[in-house]
Amino acid sequence: MLEKTLAILLAAILVSANPLVDRAAPMAVVYEACTVNNTVALTFDDGPYLYMTYISDLLTQNNAKGTFFVNGNNYNCIYNDDVVASLRYTFLAGHQIASHTWSHPHLKSLNVTRITREFELVDSALESILGIHTDFLRPPYGEYNALVREIAYKESKKLIIWDFDSGDSVGEAYRQSETDYDAKIAQNPKTLLALNHETEEDTAHYLVAYVINALQTAGYKLVTVAECLGLEPYASNTGTFGTRDDTWACPRR
Ligand SMILES: [Zn+2]
Repeated sequence: MLEKTLAILLAAILVSANPLVDRAAPMAVVYEACTVNNTVALTFDDGPYLYMTYISDLLTQNNAKGTFFVNGNNYNCIYNDDVVASLRYTFLAGHQIASHTWSHPHLKSLNVTRITREFELVDSALESILGIHTDFLRPPYGEYNALVREIAYKESKKLIIWDFDSGDSVGEAYRQSETDYDAKIAQNPKTLLALNHETEEDTAHYLVAYVINALQTAGYKLVTVAECLGLEPYASNTGTFGTRDDTWACPRR
């Protein structure tokens, strides 16, 4: 009797799941963790803002690499002169630059046109400014649905989430973030994909140095998201920076 009930239940689950499994549109891969043992990817979201070069230098001085998921128009306009300079400086230091969408929206609330635009405006900016095409995208708030994944696939994106949140963007004091990192490290995870924010002054000035030391002391290698996944950092890299023209401006959306 129990077996029969289970069989019926299983059949019901399979039938209900099939429309999803059989969806015609392929979806972008979603990564929630690193795959290369003993690596940590420190990621910094929501810039470009004031602290990119400072964090870049901290990482470089400690033989570490990081990843910056940048917006086009959030805290700052990506085409501003000082922003272009800090993006290029950080990129040339070997840190990975990837997309965090144009305006940091809740992607699940947008239609196809808007989502596509959120992706393509940043792609276009990074192509002009750095000569790269990025295939790494972190959806704002870590939010996505089937439509977001379908469009991301069409745009050749991988979605990158995280498995550790420093809490720095939700009002957590940096001392608490340090304690959280310590507690995580004490669990001896094989890898770590950590969410931080370039836009937080305390992250830049206190947390990053502390965390680099704690992680390296524990024996981890601090690498880009691409390296922690065993992937190439860019879909293409021309090695040439573009020249400013009238298109280097920030539309509202
Ligand atoms: Zn964000």
